[in-house]
Formats: sequence, C-alpha cells, structure tokens
Amino acid sequence: MEMQNKIHQKFLACFGEGGTMYASAGRVNLIGEHTDYNGGYVFPGAIDKGIMTEIKFNGTDKVNLYSLDYDAATSFGLAEEDKPAEAWARYVFGVCRETIKRGGKVAGFDAVFAGDVPLGAGLSSSAALESCFAFAINDLNQNGIDKFELAKIGQSTEHNYCGVKCGIMDQFASCFGKKGNLIRLNCKTLEYKYFPFDPEAAGYKLVLIDSCVKHELASSAYNKRRASCENAAAAMRKNHPDVEFLSDAKRLWLEEVRADIPEEDFLRAEYVIGEVQRVLDFCDALERGDYETAGEMMYQTHFGMSKLYEVSCEELDFLNKLARKMDVTGSRVMGGGFGGCTINLVKKELYKPFVDAAVEQFTAKFGHAPKVYDVVISDGARKL
Ligand code: ADP
Ligand code: MG
Repeated sequence: MEMQNKIHQKFLACFGEGGTMYASAGRVNLIGEHTDYNGGYVFPGAIDKGIMTEIKFNGTDKVNLYSLDYDAATSFGLAEEDKPAEAWARYVFGVCRETIKRGGKVAGFDAVFAGDVPLGAGLSSSAALESCFAFAINDLNQNGIDKFELAKIGQSTEHNYCGVKCGIMDQFASCFGKKGNLIRLNCKTLEYKYFPFDPEAAGYKLVLIDSCVKHELASSAYNKRRASCENAAAAMRKNHPDVEFLSDAKRLWLEEVRADIPEEDFLRAEYVIGEVQRVLDFCDALERGDYETAGEMMYQTHFGMSKLYEVSCEELDFLNKLARKMDVTGSRVMGGGFGGCTINLVKKELYKPFVDAAVEQFTAKFGHAPKVYDVVISDGARKL
C-alpha cells in the first residue's frame, strides 16, 4: 500500500492526473534446477515482492518513464533506434518493441514504477519488471495477447535488449503466478499445472538466505554442464532414439553408457535424471500435504547440485549443512549455483532460531552477513 501511494504521489507530481495501477512479482523455484535446458520440469511460484507501476496514455508517440527507486527519469520513442541509454529503461523499451514485433499496438505513455524485489539476488527482479509492463501495455492497448506470449515478450526482451540469454521460467512464473499455488512447467512441451502450496497454513515458512556471493565460474561452468548433458543424451540416443533431451532418459539407460562417456558427464546426467523425478515426487508429496517428504527432496537436490552437478560453493554448503543440523524441513541452493540464496522450508517455531543461527554463524565464518528474505507465494502480473 505504501509503495502504491508513493508511486501515485510521484505520478501526480510528474504527470498531473492519475493513471491505472498494475503489479507483477518476482519468483522462487521450489525444485527443478538445471532441468529447463534438459527438457525437464521446473516448479516455480510468484512471490510477495514485485514491481508496481502507474501508467497512462499521453497522446504522443513517446514514453516518459520515471524510476522511483533510482530517482531517475528518461524518455524514448518506440522505434528500434530509440533504445534508451539507461540499462533499467531498456527492460521497458524492450517490452514495447517486442509487443510491436508481435503486431501489438503500443500508444505513447507516462509511467512511474517502483519495486521491492532485491536486485540480482536470484528472485528475478528483471522478469517482474518485464511482466509488469508487458501485462499493462497489453491491457491498456487491448492487444489481446495471451499470457504465454506476454512471458515470451519478457524473455525476448532479455535476449534482444538486455544481453541475457535466459529460459522462460522466470517470466512464466511472473505472468502465471497465483496466490497459494506453485506451477509445474514442463520445459519441453510447455504444459503446466498448478499445485496448491500453502506452507503457512501447514505450520511452515519459506525463507531465503542470501549468501551475497557470486563466484566467477558461473558462466563458463554453465556451458560445460550443458555440454556434458548433451553428450550423455547423445550417447543414450544410440540405443534409445526417443532420447531427445536428457529428461527423456531413464536411470538404467544411463548405466548402459557409463563406460562410453567421461565419468564427469555421467555424474551430471545422474543429477539431472534424478532431479526431473524429484520434481514429480515433490508434487506427489504436496498433493498429500506431506511437507516433510517435500522438504527431504530439497535436501536431495542440494546434495545432487553440490556433489554430482558440482555447482554449489562453500558458503551455500555451509548454509545447507546448518539447516540440516537444526532439523529444518527442507533446504537447498536455489538458481544456477556458485552463489546466491538457499531456499528453506522451515517449521514456524524453528524459523527464528534458524535465521538467527544462520546469520550469526555465517557472519563469523565468512566475514559478511547474509541477507534474509521471507517469501509468500502470491499473485503474478495483474491490474490493481
Ligand atoms: P535479477 O536476478 O534480480 O533479475 P538482473 O540483473 O537480471 O537481476 O536484473 C536487475 C536489473 O533490473 C536492475 O539492474 C535494473 O536495471 C532492473 N530493475 C529491477 N528492479 C528494478 C526497480 N525496482 N527499479 C528499476 N530497475 C529495476
Ligand atoms: Mg534477471
């Protein structure tokens, strides 16, 4: 409410009469990591932290944009050569351009926006920003673009205007997010299904502990992991032509090619095949309301990411080990790895002791404090 009010006051001061309010959300992914490019499942949900904007047509062919968080304004036209200099404005410019490329109309507008997704912490503030504007522009111009295409508008914005070759999960979660629900997305077929997820009602909380480190290995290691996955899939394809992606493979089929591929590729593939199954097991557990089993899956994912896929780091393993020691229900590294957050499912009565211990012990060991974000699964892109 406070953010909405601040935006509105600024909008009145900058542009006179008020406009329409829209909001969108960042996301978490409960389980299903490094599965997207292997054609497997991911299991994200939108969170109670997002981007909000007030927006109104201005009768010109220009966009006037004000970022409350950066206390900065910019204006740009809607042609390809009008790309603004400010990095933060390119997300909005990109969304306009990608809408136009899809045949949508984008009339000039004024907008003030702000957000509370921590930047670069793995909660996808950029997807929140894109989906907020993709949704608002579509609604105001009555373009009738469906939600999946709105998510793709966000993804193409990252690819074509922000230099980030991301998958579809973040924008998908931000567009499709629904309060009290996680969404299982099949990254191969793009079929999806909602699963009720209300840890609060069952006596749990979701909390992220942000290690605030980003190890430099990330992008070269990512490419190597992808190559290992493709290599393992190709080896199995010889006996099993249906293996288009690693997610199509069975554990037994991997054993068959063990001697034919480097041990490293075997371990990477073992993780991915296990992880695809874990998403399904996690969903089964949720349908039974069994948060303890779901939490155990998160620990298994962490183990796999740390020991088989080898994308964890000392800081994340430390946080995971502490969670296990304190009987936290579930804990794992979230995101690509080599830094960022652990996501933790913790019983309410354990929440404070765990968070206090994590902050204290992490700080003592690594010399800087981690950040703590409480998250509640909430609605994605919407008109307010
Ligand atoms: P993340 O993992 O949070 O998505 P990115 O680097 O992909 O991190 O995106 C962060 C960028 O998105 C910021 O540097 C900024 O340009 C833009 N952004 C996100 N939130 C805001 C905001 N509230 N106000 C202005 N720009 C924002
Ligand atoms: Mg991002």
